[in-house]
Amino acid sequence: MDAMLQSRLSIKRKQEEEEMKCVICSKETAKKDYCKQHEKAYKHIIERYAEWKRALEISWEEYLSEINKNSLTGEWAKEVAQHLIKSGEKQRVPQN
Ligand SMILES: [Zn+2]
Repeated sequence: MDAMLQSRLSIKRKQEEEEMKCVICSKETAKKDYCKQHEKAYKHIIERYAEWKRALEISWEEYLSEINKNSLTGEWAKEVAQHLIKSGEKQRVPQN
């Protein structure tokens, strides 16, 4: 590949990384899909799911909709759950 084109492409790639935004609230983030608050809520959701699965036969989708309906769930977690339902994300669910 032409050296100049190559360096232009790497600059472009760098800018894209720097301009990453939270997929939920569009707040700027550093190389992540979520901002700090949503990242925290997301991790919490994943951890809680592992606990729920031990106690109940519950699918990821059912679990997310429970979070969404639960009035005790914080707004951050609800937003993450709604996002995960919409995006149909499954790949990062811990398997055991
Ligand atoms: Zn966010």
